[in-house]
Amino acid sequence: MPDLLPLERTTADLQQLNQWFQSKPTEALIEWAAERYGQEIVLTCSFGGPSGMVLLDMSARLGCNIPVVFLDTDLLFSETYALAEAATQRYGITIKRQQPALSLAEQERQEGPKLYARDPNRCCNIRKVTPLAEVLRPYNAWFSGIRRDQAATRAETELLQWNERHGLLKINPLAYWSERQVWTYIHTHNVPYNPLLDQGYPSLGCTPCTHPSSADNQRAGRWAGSAKTECGIHL
Ligand code: SF4
Repeated sequence: MPDLLPLERTTADLQQLNQWFQSKPTEALIEWAAERYGQEIVLTCSFGGPSGMVLLDMSARLGCNIPVVFLDTDLLFSETYALAEAATQRYGITIKRQQPALSLAEQERQEGPKLYARDPNRCCNIRKVTPLAEVLRPYNAWFSGIRRDQAATRAETELLQWNERHGLLKINPLAYWSERQVWTYIHTHNVPYNPLLDQGYPSLGCTPCTHPSSADNQRAGRWAGSAKTECGIHL
């Protein structure tokens, strides 16, 4: 194990850590981070895509008592809310639901109707990016389920990355996993997942901005008809 500074924020520290953990099982990184950060690390899960469910299941199986937060935009599919509830029961955990400061009615009064159609970046900023910043403020590290193969915008994802925006270490234990590996894990361990993924939705977000798609692209169906592919929380 490499010697570590109190915060792994220098490029050399992170390179050393990334090299170390690339040759280790995913569980080793999760256990290391859970032990090192204790209650100072948070796991965010969308209850949309399958990767977050793998991360949740793996950390539960390892007995890591990691705080879990679900960003609720108030515009998610009923299946997504149901999965969050099912995960609460299955893993015996409390999942903190973080909602935007503005209710949908307040947003409509302030910004006008259908902001998601007129200015999706602003809508995502109000309903996702700013609430995430609130969630992360007390923490020193953040577990995320994003993977390199999900999108070109994620192709450089590392296992450990210093996140300047939030001033913390972002840990992506599944960065190098493939879609096939994720589904193999899910079926092997009987992990619950969002049933809409079996109904033509490659990726799941808010109802107004998510559509079924047959395109061979894991982010297809999100903000269809626009160049937007990310809500902004992983940029
Ligand atoms: S995904 Fe769509 S509805 Fe959800 S926050 Fe972003 S723009 Fe708004």
